[in-house]
Amino acid sequence: MDGDRLKLTYDQHCDRMKQAIALASIAGARGEVPVGAVIVGPQGDCIAAAGNRRERRKDPTAHAEMIALRIAARRLRRWKLQDCTLYVTLEPCPMCAGAIIQARMGLVVYGADDPKTGAMRTVLNLPDSAASFHRVAVLGGILEVDCRQQLQAWFAKHRALSRGMPPCC
Ligand SMILES: [Zn+2]
Repeated sequence: MDGDRLKLTYDQHCDRMKQAIALASIAGARGEVPVGAVIVGPQGDCIAAAGNRRERRKDPTAHAEMIALRIAARRLRRWKLQDCTLYVTLEPCPMCAGAIIQARMGLVVYGADDPKTGAMRTVLNLPDSAASFHRVAVLGGILEVDCRQQLQAWFAKHRALSRGMPPCC
């Protein structure tokens, strides 16, 4: 990771995470599990933004991070993203963590830990495992409460809907 990205302040990370939260909100309104991702390129500008689209695309790999990685690689015309930062509202799963390692991502900033499939710290730590040839810098817990509450509210609403009850909020 280069020095410039280390100098980013907590507030700047929060601003990027707010963008990811907004994308997650759009995904959630469309019936997707609300996860959003943003990739910031080497010049400090947003080069990719995506929400989860698994339902809409009928694609098990259409997680927000996977879509954002593809957009960023296409835009930079290279698959190595070592000078980029990925922001995502939920800790990446094993598939996304694997793709992030493959992309040689410079820094991953995520919001909420995922106690079920989190593969960067909570359940597994793929970037620091023997299976990883690339050490990804990881910063978790940015706007963690907002990210977690967004997911919890979505699941509470959808559980109520599936039981035929009106959502309480
Ligand atoms: Zn994933």
